[in-house]
Amino acid sequence: MRGFELSEDFALKLDREDPLVSFRSRFFIPPNTIYFDGNSLGLMSKDSEESLTRVIKEWQEKGINGWLDAEQPWFYFAEALGAAAAELVGAEADEVVAAASTTVNIHSLVSSFYKPAGRRKKILADELNFPSDIYALKGQIALRGLNPEENLVLVQSRDGKILDEKDIVNAMDGTIALALFPSVLYRSGQLLDMESLARKAQKKGIIIGFDCCHSVGAIPHRFDEWDVDFALWCSYKYMNSGPGSPAFLYVNRKHFNEQPLLAGWFGCDKEKQFNMTLDFCQVNSAGAWQISTPGILGLAPLEGSLKILREAGIERIREKSLRMTAYLFFLVENVLSGIPYRFGTATPKEPERRGGHVALQRNEDAWSICQALKARGIIPDFRPPDIIRIAPVALYNKYHEIWQMVNIIKSIIDNKDYLSFKNKKAQVT
Ligand SMILES: *Cc1c(COP(=O)(O)O)cnc(C)c1O
Repeated sequence: MRGFELSEDFALKLDREDPLVSFRSRFFIPPNTIYFDGNSLGLMSKDSEESLTRVIKEWQEKGINGWLDAEQPWFYFAEALGAAAAELVGAEADEVVAAASTTVNIHSLVSSFYKPAGRRKKILADELNFPSDIYALKGQIALRGLNPEENLVLVQSRDGKILDEKDIVNAMDGTIALALFPSVLYRSGQLLDMESLARKAQKKGIIIGFDCCHSVGAIPHRFDEWDVDFALWCSYKYMNSGPGSPAFLYVNRKHFNEQPLLAGWFGCDKEKQFNMTLDFCQVNSAGAWQISTPGILGLAPLEGSLKILREAGIERIREKSLRMTAYLFFLVENVLSGIPYRFGTATPKEPERRGGHVALQRNEDAWSICQALKARGIIPDFRPPDIIRIAPVALYNKYHEIWQMVNIIKSIIDNKDYLSFKNKKAQVT
């Protein structure tokens, strides 16, 4: 965090020196807006618009023939996108496929990999995970006729913000059959040490999976090297592929012979799928965990997003993201931490322990300050009760925008602008 300066000129200088600066012009930036919500919904790129427009045209011109004759034949689209995404997560091409949605993929993978037996009946997760993941795990336990109250073990946080990996490892005992953890915690932005957790789980005979919604597209992963069993993630956050765009799943090839229990005909070997036999001809790849016909119009923008991500390179993206969040920490500490501003951060400061966003924390009035920021054209997001999340995205945000935001927060507090937003509520935050 050393080497930064407080002046506006310094922010502009950081932008001039940014090797990824040219990527911003490939995105649609909402007019008069500083957008820091790419960890909830990434912005659309022109590359995504182009791949979507092409597929729309192919539907118009080819009808059903698009399944085999489109530029990227639709029949193989989900696999092709999986192969392109594999390099972002350190996997082989056939270990990743685009499929369904995050929560559906949790159900689909956990239904295969959760095999409660004897003493080993429990699932290990944590109390800070995204609620949908926990609902899915409880449902999976109940489906086996077991009681979720007894069989879902949630690792507790010591401070309500972050998890201690030692507490996770200590909970990995002989009663745990499967563990599922987020790569990056959605509120505090803590990045868990996936490698060490995967190695410990393996040593203890526990199957481990990761929900990487908040890390793919922002951080490099090495699933194969770390020997992760399975993983899944959405594509609408740092992968910029559109509201509710399809998710991805990863299955370590050592598990290709496991059975997808939420099976569907898109998990068949493609050579045999249209033989329409009633025996499931499982493909020997992660593709087996697809269920239904993929929504091709939903997949189409992913082609453009992956093109940009691979061109920029995930290592360079991570490097810039860390520099941006370090700069944000520096400004918050120097401009917003004293009285009357009283901002703190809930995100770990060590680079290897933080993801792509920073959680600003303020005991009072965080919600109304967030609303006042929105009224000034700055889009953060809010996670109750006291967190304002700021995601400076390497592909399209500027250092100068970080500088502007911090100084606008300062003026909102100096002028007490936030007081007029005190009692407003919203449904999507
Ligand atoms: C974004 C996110 C989800 C969203 O789930 P959907 O099924 O895509 O609605 C789930 N879990 C985590 C950890 C997330 O970050």
